[in-house]
Amino acid sequence: MNIKKQFIDGNWILANNKETREIINPYNQEIIAIVTESDETDTQEAIKAARDAFDHGEWPNLTNIERGRVVRKIADLIERDAEELAKLETLDTGKTLEESRWDMEDIAEVFRYYADIGDKDGGEVIPSPIPNSVSRVVNEPVGVCAQITPWNYPLLQASWKLAPALVAGNTLIMKPSEITPLTTIKVFELMEEAGLPKGVANLVLGAGSTVGSELSKHMDVDLISFTGGVGTGRKIMQAATSNIKKVALELGGKNPNIIFKDADMDVAIDNALNAVFFHAGQVCSAGTRLIVEDTIHDDFIDALKKRVEKIVLGNGLDDQTEMGPLISKEHLEKVSTYVDNGVKEGATLLIGGTKPKDTALENGFFYLPTVLTDCTTDMAVVQDEGFGPVITVERFTTEDQAIKLANDSVYGLSGGVWTQDLAKAERCVNKMRMGTVWINDVNNYFPQAPWGGYKQSGFGRELGTTGLEEYQEQKHIFTNLKPEAMNWFGNK
Ligand code: NAD
Repeated sequence: MNIKKQFIDGNWILANNKETREIINPYNQEIIAIVTESDETDTQEAIKAARDAFDHGEWPNLTNIERGRVVRKIADLIERDAEELAKLETLDTGKTLEESRWDMEDIAEVFRYYADIGDKDGGEVIPSPIPNSVSRVVNEPVGVCAQITPWNYPLLQASWKLAPALVAGNTLIMKPSEITPLTTIKVFELMEEAGLPKGVANLVLGAGSTVGSELSKHMDVDLISFTGGVGTGRKIMQAATSNIKKVALELGGKNPNIIFKDADMDVAIDNALNAVFFHAGQVCSAGTRLIVEDTIHDDFIDALKKRVEKIVLGNGLDDQTEMGPLISKEHLEKVSTYVDNGVKEGATLLIGGTKPKDTALENGFFYLPTVLTDCTTDMAVVQDEGFGPVITVERFTTEDQAIKLANDSVYGLSGGVWTQDLAKAERCVNKMRMGTVWINDVNNYFPQAPWGGYKQSGFGRELGTTGLEEYQEQKHIFTNLKPEAMNWFGNK
């Protein structure tokens, strides 16, 4: 098997230490690729390439329109190779091919969206209070950006960072998750094909403790954008104090999904499943905290259970499969312990709670879709992000109580409210402390709308116009058209 290489200063090269890492298909543990394992020295070289390309290269000085053209070409190439990319994402993550196909459509759209808004960004002329002057604000790139992504949506999360950074004129070093680097490697090939100048986008492949840590503390990195767990986010924020880097953190979530008794029940049940079981619950915005009105609680849970029983687990490449495996053996153990502890602290196991017995699945990291009822907010299983196919169910009697429960979390990424009373829905979402709230919907996002967290779900926004602003410095240029002597000093 050919070793997949890192991409530094326009060259595909092996890591200095010549070490490698095996990439595993979580469905059957087959080795699907061998990847070079970068370390601190490779990372330093990648940073130097990005620094040189920013300080001396053409990219930051091109017009927005010229940069937009290259980024639009990247979108076209992703669309051209979408099926290949989707299959690769499924092999690497275990998610169903249909989900990977949606991801690839979204990813091409993200590149196109930023190309389109970037080339219309002409800054702003602002009213000046001083006569005979012009005051304007121009947007400039921040500089050298480090971008670190997680394993659950490898290429989607990468696209949210790459597209705005490039359009804004930055240079960058990306570090994908060491478990799922394959589609990111492929997109770096496409970026090269699209004509991105050398040194503008660099790719290092390796562990967080080596490559990630070096990126976070390095004095020549001006901005770090991170998506991943809150514990890692904390370390990155601390390391970034070295040179007061700009920091953006997209962290975890433990997201409430409130069901009122006047919701359309069939639709709400269907979406309570969608909220959690896509990609086996390994979704930052998964609506894993189901909060159900008391009077419908029992019927709702019965109906939910009947649907959960029928969920088809299997190979993501098989079009009958509804839910794939978890990402790794370690993660499977983590989810399993999380559920066991939930039961120990008093939750009732309604369904699931174990690995499947089906021998056809025994080589994969599968865990059954699980529902825990009788949950309360003092339980760790309600507060901690399990990041698996696990729903916890709480009950409420009043609107105020539902909102209080929903907000009782250190996280604030997303939340949902299901009711046919839109005034009630508005009252709820206005009080919910989360970056995204859905009324009668779940997990919907698109390039035009900002994405990010409140509280320990992080800060900074991706997507939308704010996603571009994260990668820009604003410069105020003031021109005095009629300069006059003031005669204040030494001329009295
Ligand atoms: P993780 O924090 O373990 O790893 C994320 C990335 O950080 C990986 O590339 C990893 O190698 C790197 N890393 C690890 N230690 C590091 C260090 N000390 N310094 C620098 N980098 C380091 O997260 P994960 O397990 O890959 O992803 C799952 C988490 O990501 C969940 O908490 C999920 O909610 C979160 N997530 C959030 C969003 C969002 O939009 N808010 C989206 C996707 C995933």
